[in-house]
Amino acid sequence: FISSARRANFAILLAKTELDPDNPRAATTGFLVDLPAEGWDDVREIETMHGSTGHSEIVIEDLRVPASNMLGERGQGHRLGQYRLGPARLAHCMRWIAQAEVALDMMVDRSLERYSHGSILAEKQGIQWMIADSTMELYQAKLMILHAAYKIDNGLDFISEVSMAKHFVANALGRIIDRSIQVHGALGYSTDTPLANMYQHARWARFADGADEIHQMRIAQRTISAYRDHGSVRTAAGDLPI
Ligand SMILES: Cc1cc2nc3c(=O)[nH]c(=O)nc-3n(C[C@H](O)[C@H](O)[C@H](O)COP(=O)(O)OP(=O)(O)OC[C@H]3O[C@@H](n4cnc5c(N)ncnc54)[C@H](O)[C@@H]3O)c2cc1C
Repeated sequence: FISSARRANFAILLAKTELDPDNPRAATTGFLVDLPAEGWDDVREIETMHGSTGHSEIVIEDLRVPASNMLGERGQGHRLGQYRLGPARLAHCMRWIAQAEVALDMMVDRSLERYSHGSILAEKQGIQWMIADSTMELYQAKLMILHAAYKIDNGLDFISEVSMAKHFVANALGRIIDRSIQVHGALGYSTDTPLANMYQHARWARFADGADEIHQMRIAQRTISAYRDHGSVRTAAGDLPI
């Protein structure tokens, strides 16, 4: 499931090089692989629920890479990957909040024009709750992204904040598009608006760059460690001065 592999002139490959390191995260090393290469087989582009969007299945067998193509030191692969994934995950989040905002704009627009059961939808409490929940989630998403970006910009440890932002924004995106579809009624289910397409596309957000449950597992581990080490969860919850 390697995105854009067919368009790439080189790949960054993380390969297991250490058999039994003291730190399990020091088992892989990063390599640059010039493409195409013998031993690197781009088998197929995988069809997804959102069509064929350029994600390749790759088989790597007997690939030889010169030592000069090693990235960093032996055993640093995981660290390099995590470092790159910080800003990369936030870049995804920024695209997702734009999608969520479009979905909320559309939700409100539709609620103002659709007349049903004696009033426009915008005047109905059930619809207002969907608008309110979506607005609060969009606001939370933006704040989480800004805080994680602040940590990256200031050279602070950002792993946890990026992880929490990535998980939250990916899930908020799905919920907001889903509510927008609900407010549109059958029109939302049709392909007359972009919402159906956006909904299908948004599902990938909960897998790529770390599936939900893996982020939750790590977030919980950090929270438990913070409590064990400091008697408080504060440092794990953004370490904010409030
Ligand atoms: C559109 C798209 C693009 C992608 N692009 C890339 C790419 O460019 N490069 C790349 O390297 N990867 C890419 N991926 C792969 C992505 O990183 C993986 O799909 C993701 O890490 C999950 O791994 P998996 O699919 O093997 O799921 P699995 O590891 O099989 O997990 C299946 C489910 O079980 C859950 N699970 C696993 N372990 C646990 C646990 N310990 N506790 C609880 N639940 C658990 C997972 O969260 C998941 O929901 C892409 C995926 C998608 C959908």
